[in-house]
Amino acid sequence: MIPESDARQAIALAGQGVNVSQIARRLGHDRKTIRIYLNGHRAPGQPRPHAGSYAPFAAYVLKRAAGDRHLRGAGLHREITALGYAGSYSAFTRELRGHGITAACQTCKPWQPVIPAPEQRSAVLPARVAPVTGETIASYLARTAAANHLPLKAITDVLPPWFTARAAACDDIAKPGLLRPGDARRLAALTGISEIALRHALPALAGHRDDGRPPLRSAVACRRCAARHGQHDAVPVHLPAYQRACERHRTWLGRAIQIDVITVPDIIAAASRAHRLAREHGVTRLVLAEITARQETVAGPGARRRAVALALASPGLDPRHPDTAEAAAYPETIRMAAVSLSAPGALPAGPE
Ligand SMILES: [Zn+2]
Ligand SMILES: [Zn+2]
Repeated sequence: MIPESDARQAIALAGQGVNVSQIARRLGHDRKTIRIYLNGHRAPGQPRPHAGSYAPFAAYVLKRAAGDRHLRGAGLHREITALGYAGSYSAFTRELRGHGITAACQTCKPWQPVIPAPEQRSAVLPARVAPVTGETIASYLARTAAANHLPLKAITDVLPPWFTARAAACDDIAKPGLLRPGDARRLAALTGISEIALRHALPALAGHRDDGRPPLRSAVACRRCAARHGQHDAVPVHLPAYQRACERHRTWLGRAIQIDVITVPDIIAAASRAHRLAREHGVTRLVLAEITARQETVAGPGARRRAVALALASPGLDPRHPDTAEAAAYPETIRMAAVSLSAPGALPAGPE
């Protein structure tokens, strides 16, 4: 931290239009530290957060909880502990309550063990239905049944019990009821789609890591990807938690809306870069770096210019919609995230 009087003076100078570099030179502190006060991340005189501090992870937890409504207490604690949070589980649950992050999904049915039906041999269904990347089991089975003019039960009756449970489950990637070897092969035999293609597209078939839920977020599939599959209704999918866009269709997959970003190519360039960063540093580290960066990038001039360009290309799109603002700031956000990820120890340690 810097002396309270310096912090107050920095805020006053910024108010007079003096830029960060000039303020930093004049007061003899580095720019990063000055920004912490200008952004309101710390009040003048407030000490630097200690190692067990929740503050650096608050935005991350909010985002992951919103992106995966089945990811709660223990799973979230495991993720942020891996990212450097040092607080105990009970300290963490106090923070969750304090931030109004409530317990799990309200619509979930409790997990019911399924009694296996007698094995039935099945022929390949006449209508082949290719899965949409990331699709939930419930959605894929329902589309398969509809395309074959069959009730869902006719499909689940000839599949292993794991599928019956998943078809009814709200939480597609829950841990209980692990897939058995051979289950995916049975689905392949029924649908006529290769087991490799099914495993690649349906995240629930990927099985589970022992250390918790995979870092995915719930979303609606890119509408153009869905349309290629002849699907014009929303297809529920799980996407990697960092993935914000369909690169193939140059479409931003926002929380509430999808935005055509064809006219702003640097957004898709940033999406490709995010993909590489996720491979290099891991999904959760990228998400944390992105969220930390975004607090500084959303109001920048580049973001404002892109928001206008996006709105011009899509009549009716509000340039101030939160999804538009995020898409518009994404190139700077990813650039800053990349810098913080490559600086050793820069995340999630304190910002000084
Ligand atoms: Zn649920
Ligand atoms: Zn697409």
